[in-house]
Amino acid sequence: MSYKEPAPIKNQENPFESMMSRFDEAARILGLDQNSYNVLKSPAKAVLVNLPVIMDDGTVQVFEGYRVVHSQAMGPSKGGVRYSMDVNLDEVKALAAWMTWKCAVVGIPYGGGKGGIKCDPRKMSKGELERLTRAYTGSMRDVFGPENDIPAPDMNTGPQEMAWLMDEYSKIKGQYSPAVTTGKPLVLGGSSGRVEATGRGVMVAARAAMGKLGINPIEATCAVQGFGNVGSISAKLIQLQGLKIVAISDVTGGYYDPNGIDIETAIAYRNSNGGTLEGFKAERITNEEILELDVDVLVPAAMEDQITKHNAANIKAKLIVEGANGPTSANADIILNEKNIMVVPDILANAGGVTVSYFEWVQNRLGYYWTEERVHRRADRTMKQAFEEVYAASQKYGTSLRIAAYIVAIDKVSKALAFRGVF
Ligand code: NAD
Repeated sequence: MSYKEPAPIKNQENPFESMMSRFDEAARILGLDQNSYNVLKSPAKAVLVNLPVIMDDGTVQVFEGYRVVHSQAMGPSKGGVRYSMDVNLDEVKALAAWMTWKCAVVGIPYGGGKGGIKCDPRKMSKGELERLTRAYTGSMRDVFGPENDIPAPDMNTGPQEMAWLMDEYSKIKGQYSPAVTTGKPLVLGGSSGRVEATGRGVMVAARAAMGKLGINPIEATCAVQGFGNVGSISAKLIQLQGLKIVAISDVTGGYYDPNGIDIETAIAYRNSNGGTLEGFKAERITNEEILELDVDVLVPAAMEDQITKHNAANIKAKLIVEGANGPTSANADIILNEKNIMVVPDILANAGGVTVSYFEWVQNRLGYYWTEERVHRRADRTMKQAFEEVYAASQKYGTSLRIAAYIVAIDKVSKALAFRGVF
């Protein structure tokens, strides 16, 4: 039985619905059987916990926490934990599915998961955040595990939260368990090269795509939206490939210089300027204008839903490499495809981060740590191979790289599912 339902792209711009509509389209092209479709459409497990935390003033506040395991067909589930007032179970379910496809597309032996706690970390002390993280870990003791479900940092969480999580889990289990989470501080089993991993993967994907399009890096121009971890490191490494970075941006707006911006200088400026580019010497443009510049390569590396049906027709870049998750809506994809603009999709372009998280887990289990050079070399190879596999699928099925990436991912996960069987 083949999954035959047509896959209309609904008239919406929600990034998660956009993602699911691409899943539907890829499933249809692949001829995914209805049984596998039904299994993969829903998360395998969704856990909701209430976490009582003693606050600094002695009162007890109860926080809602979630962990969703979308699929473990390919291995233990992997995915971040975010702390935000906006987090909710539906969002976490969608993000968990996203992780399943992302891990499968780069061929790392993981399924997909995601977690979150509804809280406002900016209003909490370090002690309160520690107690909350430990309470969450305790409640998820039977969900998490190096062989079960492996969290990582996400929005508003970082190495400190992962260190608390690892410490609490190790105490509960009575054994040192660094592989229960990734994104740990280097001294606690974090991996060399993790900080640069996502930006580096974006650069590798951009180079591979430029090769297919015949874009000569030495003659090409590039604009990068977002100047945080992913944006600034992508920009730095893309510049090292010979491209001229004519514009960068962050939450304070865009900065344009047709003669090129020296990214090391911009990073040093940001670091000494409270973390933003405000006041950086260049022509000021908006975050909307940066997307519409006449450049060869555009890297959206800030946030979701930036290229939509409202501005896609104005995009002039020949190549878009998605550093951010969900920067392009499904409706925008239709317009970009018509304009013959190549888009390296998020689940491929920014998978360098989860790839090096996988290397962190491998090193933790071995108790043997790799040099930064080895981490980079292996991650670059993984990214190149994944790009070639997705490119070949796009040629075979006559689809965009985005749908091809979903096809590659769904094909792998559904095959794993078929071998394991449903019981
Ligand atoms: P970050 O917090 O380090 O940086 C975000 C950047 O975006 C900052 O420069 C911020 O000023 C800018 N920004 C915020 N709001 C903006 C707006 N309205 N317009 C323009 N710029 C704005 O975050 P990051 O880790 O670099 O993540 C960026 C994106 O990449 C997110 O979509 C994230 O999910 C995705 N991503 C990150 C990783 C990773 O390893 N860090 C991995 C995969 C995907």
